[in-house]
Amino acid sequence: MAYAYDDQNIFAKILRGEIPNTTVLETEHTLAFRDLYPQAPSHVLVIPKGPYVCYDHFAQEATDAEIVDYTRAIGKVCELEGVATDGFRMISNAGEHGVQEVPHLHVHILSGRPLGRMLAKA
Ligand code: AMP
Repeated sequence: MAYAYDDQNIFAKILRGEIPNTTVLETEHTLAFRDLYPQAPSHVLVIPKGPYVCYDHFAQEATDAEIVDYTRAIGKVCELEGVATDGFRMISNAGEHGVQEVPHLHVHILSGRPLGRMLAKA
């Protein structure tokens, strides 16, 4: 599937500096910042700077440099947030069934409390 990227989404505006964020880490191709409505004591969003809608879009079309940078940045955020001690959850919602609200790829890194089972029964 060919994805169409909407550059008016809120994370695109964050990347352009049009709205503020609380940055955790910035690298050449990646930005990590705190979720505005945290669902755990630590709730960080990690986004690529490139125009990718969701993870499969990124995995199919990003350059190797972007993919390496993004993956290493996720590792660095995990280190900064100290998630290795008690564990964490990483989520990336996509599309309608995934209930993705912001159409720019992001992974949520949640930690700091027991997070329950992965999915509630439908
Ligand atoms: P998703 O439902 O996976 O698309 O998640 C979007 C996330 O973006 C939610 O957890 C929101 O709380 C978060 N969010 C929305 N606006 C902002 C913002 N301006 N700064 C930081 N996080 C935001």
